[in-house]
Amino acid sequence: MTAHAVINRNTYDQVMLPIYSPAHFIPVKGQGSRVWDQQGKEYIDFAGGIAVMALGHCHPELVDALKRQGEKLWHISNIFTNEPALTLAQKLIDATFAERVFFANSGAEANEAAFKLARHYAITRHNPYKTKIIAFHHGFHGRTLFTVSVGGQPKYADGFGPKPADIIHVPFNDLDAVKAVMDDHTCAVVLEPVQGEGGVTPATSAFIHGVRELCDKHQVLLVFDEVQSGMGRTGKLFSYMHYDVVPDIITTAKALGNGFPISAMLTTANIASVMVPGTHGTTYGGNPLACAVANVAFDIISTPEVLHGVEKRHNLIVNFLNGINQRYSVFGEIRGKGLLIGAELKGKYQGKAKDVLQLAAENGLMLLSAGSDVLRFTPSLIISEEEIAQGMERLEKAISQLV
Ligand SMILES: *Cc1c(COP(=O)(O)O)cnc(C)c1O
Repeated sequence: MTAHAVINRNTYDQVMLPIYSPAHFIPVKGQGSRVWDQQGKEYIDFAGGIAVMALGHCHPELVDALKRQGEKLWHISNIFTNEPALTLAQKLIDATFAERVFFANSGAEANEAAFKLARHYAITRHNPYKTKIIAFHHGFHGRTLFTVSVGGQPKYADGFGPKPADIIHVPFNDLDAVKAVMDDHTCAVVLEPVQGEGGVTPATSAFIHGVRELCDKHQVLLVFDEVQSGMGRTGKLFSYMHYDVVPDIITTAKALGNGFPISAMLTTANIASVMVPGTHGTTYGGNPLACAVANVAFDIISTPEVLHGVEKRHNLIVNFLNGINQRYSVFGEIRGKGLLIGAELKGKYQGKAKDVLQLAAENGLMLLSAGSDVLRFTPSLIISEEEIAQGMERLEKAISQLV
């Protein structure tokens, strides 16, 4: 083995499984909504680690929480419980419909637990044939074989052999389509209140209410995947709170630990009661280090100042996008909720999201796409107005260079 004096983007292609094609620069430092690369170039961060960095990079209170817990207890396993996990579970329960919490490490794991719980509940309380899961085209729930199969993008799910059976996909926001496939053998309907990866598409209120009614009629559990839309992203702690509907299970991850890996599945005591010691588990889930950070992130995100600031920033971003649109005629629909915003590329810009992202990076802006036609904005919930303005200036420059 040779000594490596230099680590750069080329190293990636030589050492990593080629499942991503990361940008050509390597970020080395972040503060708030600014990031710097190896060469010291500065970026405004509208991506937030894919809707993870709700409180920006290296928030001083989170750094402090990490350091304090880091000197106390990192990991103890679920053979023992721990104070940070119990404190965090209590906070999540107090703030939602839920009465029981399961912690894991990623969105996929929280969803895997949710889908297993929904199946196990139906089989235990009803009959062994009540296993059908209704899910939606363009939905995204993670990359384990079960969660990717419930997701509605065949290009992610195909090519890995037999999939878990009894999962059916119908068009999102189409209540008649749900009605047509719903029956007494259905155990769960799984949806993202705002589809994130699939193109930033909010569910309509009529759809959510209609699905809830159908679920009640057929004794089906309603599962909301709030991995991306939760933890303040849409201006409420969880996006289901916009709809005046109570789900049976929700999952959350991304912003829960503000970059420290942690996820949670929340449900009622009744549904949780079908699980007994040994039915499910994880080594790392709910470890003290992750929960200590998430406790502080939760306290800050759930303050009225942070939650109320989301709408103001949403309006500011949409105004800037409308302005750019007047000058360049680049966007079709601009949609989303709170700080989960999608801008559809139209006309000659269609299919060029990747090119926009690359030009944005060259101009000092980190941005996301959702598919090839939608620019996705998921900045920190506390990004400053000045940083939004500066980022938008860089975006406009990128778009001007695309012409
Ligand atoms: C990101 C995401 C997931 C997967 O989370 P991982 O932490 O990557 O496993 C699941 N559901 C939704 C809605 C997501 O946005």
